[in-house]
Amino acid sequence: MAIQWYPGHMNKAKKAIAERIKSVDMVIEVLDARLPASSANPLLAKLAADKPKLKILNKQDLADPERTVLWLTDYRAQPHTNVLALDASEKQAASKIIAACRSLVPNRHGLDRPLRVLICGIPNVGKSTLINGMLGKRSAKTGNEPGITKAEQRLILADDFWLYDTPGMLWPKIIVEEAGYNLAASGAVGRNALDEETVALELLDYLRRHYLSLLQLRYQADLSESPHWRDDNWLEWIGKKRGALLSGGRIDYQKAAERVLTDFRDGLIGRITLETPNQWAVWLKKGQMQ
Ligand code: GDP
Repeated sequence: MAIQWYPGHMNKAKKAIAERIKSVDMVIEVLDARLPASSANPLLAKLAADKPKLKILNKQDLADPERTVLWLTDYRAQPHTNVLALDASEKQAASKIIAACRSLVPNRHGLDRPLRVLICGIPNVGKSTLINGMLGKRSAKTGNEPGITKAEQRLILADDFWLYDTPGMLWPKIIVEEAGYNLAASGAVGRNALDEETVALELLDYLRRHYLSLLQLRYQADLSESPHWRDDNWLEWIGKKRGALLSGGRIDYQKAAERVLTDFRDGLIGRITLETPNQWAVWLKKGQMQ
């Protein structure tokens, strides 16, 4: 699969994150609730193995609520892990996060110093929105500690709560094929990484198998004639329905693919989650066998 890879950035970020992790009490990992496992970075799991973790399933307003419960249960079973499902724009987001952090690291061996938290997430998961929400009216007070660059801000949310933004970019790491497609569908990997028609066809294939009624409702497809539409039938139908046409009435597949992807990203097809803990386990196993 032709995913673009950025080893240079990756190594720099890895070093900086590894360095910062040493001096924090805990780590917040922001995930996309529609693709929790695909939007996680296994590198972070390794680097922060011995730190308490708060996982935030962000964009829960776009995710399938039943599947969010499955992920919450799955993560809660992990040691030293707390988990929250959130919509970054909700008013209580910041106070929920701060409370969850405090409960995860309730007493730091009597140490009289602020709780220091590193927040990480791959691009587009909503990390900035969450940070801005946590800052609220407080202006971003950045630290003057040596070694803290502009790219790695220390935000003082309360006298006893310091939040460090990740130094550098935490790029997604694609460990199974499905994760690549899910990341592309969510918009987390750049437009050029994967061809949009392929991504849309993969998405339609998943939706057809798991969210058929939502698909049917959104695009008003009459399935009575052929209940087993193939994915390209769907793309063709959507092209027709959504006016993605070329001269002579031919379908503009590229445009139809873009429409499907924007509809998904904007939540217009419905609340959808592209993976469950069980599905992810199967994909991982399959990936390891190849
Ligand atoms: P970052 O790259 O992780 O810092 O992501 P941003 O904070 O810039 O958010 C990326 C996009 O997702 C923006 O368009 C946000 O408005 C949107 N976004 C962030 N959080 C949420 C959320 O909880 N729900 C929804 N629907 N959109 C969100």
